[in-house]
Amino acid sequence: MRWWGWGHDGVSFTHADKPELGPFLRRHLGLDVARVASRPVAFEDLHVPAPSLPAGLAEALGATASTDPLDRVVHARGKSLRDLVRHRRGELGRLPDVVVRPAGEDEVAAIMRAALEADAVLIPFGGGTSISGSLEARPEERRTVISLDLSRLSRVLAVDDVSRLATVQAGALGPDLERQLNAQGWTLGHFPDSFAHSTLGGWIATRSSGMQSDRYGDIGDLTRALRVVTPSGLLVTRPVPSTSTGPSVREMVLGSEGRLGVITEATLHVRRVPQQRTILGYLFPSWDAGLAAMRDIAASEAGVSVSRVSDAGETQFSFATRKRPTILDRLKSKALTTYLQRRRGFDLEAMCLSFIGYEGGRRHVAAQRKLVGRIAGRHGGICIGSSPGALYDQKKFDTPYIRDFLLDRGALADVSETAAPWSRLSAVYDAVMAAARGAFDELGVRGYIMCHLSHSYHAGACLYFTFALMPTGDELAQYDRVKSAIQQAFIDSGATLSHHHAVGTEHAEWLEADISPPGVAMLRALFTGTDPGANLNPGKIV
Ligand SMILES: Cc1cc2nc3c(=O)[nH]c(=O)nc-3n(C[C@H](O)[C@H](O)[C@H](O)COP(=O)(O)OP(=O)(O)OC[C@H]3O[C@@H](n4cnc5c(N)ncnc54)[C@H](O)[C@@H]3O)c2cc1C
Repeated sequence: MRWWGWGHDGVSFTHADKPELGPFLRRHLGLDVARVASRPVAFEDLHVPAPSLPAGLAEALGATASTDPLDRVVHARGKSLRDLVRHRRGELGRLPDVVVRPAGEDEVAAIMRAALEADAVLIPFGGGTSISGSLEARPEERRTVISLDLSRLSRVLAVDDVSRLATVQAGALGPDLERQLNAQGWTLGHFPDSFAHSTLGGWIATRSSGMQSDRYGDIGDLTRALRVVTPSGLLVTRPVPSTSTGPSVREMVLGSEGRLGVITEATLHVRRVPQQRTILGYLFPSWDAGLAAMRDIAASEAGVSVSRVSDAGETQFSFATRKRPTILDRLKSKALTTYLQRRRGFDLEAMCLSFIGYEGGRRHVAAQRKLVGRIAGRHGGICIGSSPGALYDQKKFDTPYIRDFLLDRGALADVSETAAPWSRLSAVYDAVMAAARGAFDELGVRGYIMCHLSHSYHAGACLYFTFALMPTGDELAQYDRVKSAIQQAFIDSGATLSHHHAVGTEHAEWLEADISPPGVAMLRALFTGTDPGANLNPGKIV
């Protein structure tokens, strides 16, 4: 992973093959794609302070202990916008003093013992894709900070074919995990947008959700059992389908962001790789129509794997990122717009793009498509075939690179996501749009906000907002103003502070309003009871 941004060196987002993107960004943000306004400082120019690592602790941490400056910089933070902006400027914050890479659970336990004995801070590190400030040590931390990188624990250990359960080491990155499972005909079905660079342990510790969660569930649903190295020993839960053992310890570990221990293994639901998998595109005449269709699909017997609809703003952005069309594409697109406007009465500015994913046996998929087609039709939607869905599926893991592209050109872009009951979704959407636009106006900056619904459930859904602004002054202060307005609107309109990005430090301010003061008191008691010396990733969540 790049130390200052997303992904691998040599891979980046470009506008060169997307002729409509430049005009779109100029129109909405006043941004000139041809003008690179800022670049990250050179690594050689960073001031990396000397590590504070007592000799006894260094020895106890074992042969993999690394104080290499690049290692320490890469492990210092995640990939939130605030992380990227500060790293690019060379403001490194409180770097870990040492990075360790244990090869197994015994070594994790030995590192935990050494850390506690030396009263050091231990921060588990999966893929480093946290977007909520879950990885950074507190700025005032005076104790030695150890980043425990789980990348060597990357194996699928066993698959129980009868129970459809796989036991997997926590450091497995998404692609490694799927490759190993697919080789045996299985899939976990968990595909967050950060899939390429995030790990099983990180997913569990942040309660992650993948794009196919409608069918497979969130990571909380997929995780049956856990092994966790804690200050008081190895915590082991059993891979039973359900249990009545009091408040769920498994659930306590889910979303614990390294505060209760180091997850070393998990036993997970797996399913057979589906015979058929397809994502179809649909267009709806309005956001309200799209929302209503998603709600009816969730209430139906369709059992789709993806249900997603973008608002008009995001639909226009998606169209603006299309690659240079061929003559045939142009003709098709002209025919489609003529049909939509003349025959269906669509207002192209209000139209909303949707993707519905289908998986399973051929007959099952055919039946699902028929049922969804009827529901979409009832809400004025039309199916536009599989090519937009295939394109979306291919480019979804490339999209994260766009934040670095925009930062290079002086724009800040970020996301905030939430969940609410179906009956409140429209109100949440309206409140967030008003709050963000109010913040742009108050700051006097050009800004853009767009949204999609993803992850549908029986009782509600996730709304995922993406916003961008062209700052005119202190960029992080202006970013904070917009981000806070959005988060506050979530809470004020009855939604949660985050559906799948966790609390970390970014969202901690809204936790008490979300789960009530006694809820926060319970979490505090859990963390201090389990980790009385506050050695495990202190300062996160509460
Ligand atoms: C561009 C982008 C797109 C994203 N898309 C999605 C998405 O679609 N869905 C989604 O859910 N999230 C998404 N995220 C957020 C992020 O990828 C998730 O929070 C992910 O689960 C973090 O996994 P990780 O392995 O990178 O964990 P890290 O970032 O390394 O760690 C996150 C937290 O988990 C703790 N942790 C990590 N491993 C362990 C362990 N083994 N034991 C105990 N604690 C541990 C860390 O201490 C930290 O508190 C996205 C982030 C970015 C930047």
